[in-house]
Amino acid sequence: MSDPEPNPKQEINYTQIFINNEWHNSVSGKVFSTINPATGEKLCDVQEGDKADVDKAVTAARTAFKIGSKWRTMDASKRGKLLMRFVELLKRDISIIANLETLDNGKPFYDAVDDVKGTISVFEYYAGWCDKICGKTIPVDGDYFTFTRHEPVGVCGQIIPWNYPVSMLSWKLGPALACGNTVILKPAEQTPLTALYCCSLFKEAGFPPGVVNVVPGYGPTAGAAISEHMDIDKVAFTGSTEVGKLVMQAAGKSNLKRISLELGGKSPLIILADADVDNAALWAHAAIFNNMGQNCCAGSRTFVQEGIYEEFVKKAKTMAETRPVGDPFDAMTQHGSQIDEAQFKKILDFVESGKKEGAVLEAGGERFGEKGYFVKPTVFSNVTDNMKIAREEIFGPVQSIIKFKTLDEAIERANNTSYGLAAGIITNDINKAMIFSQAVQAGSVWVNCYDIVTTQSPFGGFKQSGHGRELSEYAIKEYTEVKAVTIKLPQKNS
Ligand code: NAD
Repeated sequence: MSDPEPNPKQEINYTQIFINNEWHNSVSGKVFSTINPATGEKLCDVQEGDKADVDKAVTAARTAFKIGSKWRTMDASKRGKLLMRFVELLKRDISIIANLETLDNGKPFYDAVDDVKGTISVFEYYAGWCDKICGKTIPVDGDYFTFTRHEPVGVCGQIIPWNYPVSMLSWKLGPALACGNTVILKPAEQTPLTALYCCSLFKEAGFPPGVVNVVPGYGPTAGAAISEHMDIDKVAFTGSTEVGKLVMQAAGKSNLKRISLELGGKSPLIILADADVDNAALWAHAAIFNNMGQNCCAGSRTFVQEGIYEEFVKKAKTMAETRPVGDPFDAMTQHGSQIDEAQFKKILDFVESGKKEGAVLEAGGERFGEKGYFVKPTVFSNVTDNMKIAREEIFGPVQSIIKFKTLDEAIERANNTSYGLAAGIITNDINKAMIFSQAVQAGSVWVNCYDIVTTQSPFGGFKQSGHGRELSEYAIKEYTEVKAVTIKLPQKNS
């Protein structure tokens, strides 16, 4: 793998819709601008797909999925080799992809590099799965022989967000392709560039036409065309709970397509008084400020036990005030810009509501610099459960520090939310950690760490944080249908 080099002048070569391994202009002739959120300046125009383009992509994906097609008749091991060829191209172009990601998203360059490395690991992992997706033979009653086939679901629509654009692409495409599906992916309108670049690599790797199609565009048009489509067999969505509900409704109203949803969160991180305060403050800081708080599993409710509360708040304040904010291409920067003006304003509105409702602003709470959409790392103490900043997903760099007395009380308050994506606890008492990890309603629980998301481990939400699981072996289930085949035998023997 080449050593990634930051390049704020990275050339942008792919801005069209990718269908059937070809580049297309939108049927409507419309384009939309993508903006560099660190400067507020336009990067380029991108072809704006909507229903007509999604229809074209579905036709291509359906043709590629036909019985007897090149993709359907390919050895599973060959699918794995194709994915590995794609991995080699990702490694070759890691600098280009990371630079495009930073330009389009505003995240620090070396964070974007880590995202591409994670993407590589996800595709490598699923490349290995291709020829290991097995059914069973089943000892059924009677003179019959039954076996199951785990078949691809078919044409999959995938709608992804802007916070981890290339990683989200890998979480969706990795298992879908390993299982032999064909795909129409819609990147977020804020961040289409890395998905389009990856299309050029799928083509170069030798994927047959129509297997991977990417239609950039807006949610209510291109996104809705996917979730409502009568000829898409499954939709996978990551984004807000609000839109997740629309996607599920559209699936129900159209053809009952299969769904998997990875939605929002308001995840609790519990810090017990027996913990080392310096270590706890470090984890809590990373839990909320990584990716500028734009993280679905961000530890956005920091519950700290009385006894260490004041000391913890002091440390959290110092860390937030000294977190290096600025140009995402500067190697020293840990904190780049928010994704766009709408999110930037929304976050500052949340800060105002926190102040109004009586939380104490310890750090930040305002814009950083004069251009772009930077928000200073913000810390509130004296936060109570009923405040808006403690209830709603901010998706920004705002730490809410809440005091509690007992573990039982913390568990009850941690679970008092409609979300259930992630949770964490920092303690030196293994018994308390075990009690918490069993009682908390969340798809991921971290003990003495936070936000450790690995390719091999399932990720997804309880309650209104989603349906189904991504990554790991569990994602294979989301992209396969189980077929039971029963054959009459002349006579059965054990
Ligand atoms: P969003 O849910 O609107 O967008 C996510 C994706 O869904 C994008 O590709 C978007 O184009 C698409 N989309 C939007 N409306 C759609 C529709 N009607 N049908 C089909 N697809 C549609 O998220 P957002 O507006 O970008 O951000 C709003 C909030 O969502 C954030 O503040 C945050 O709370 C949450 N969010 C969560 C995640 C996550 O990873 N869980 C990611 C991004 C945003």
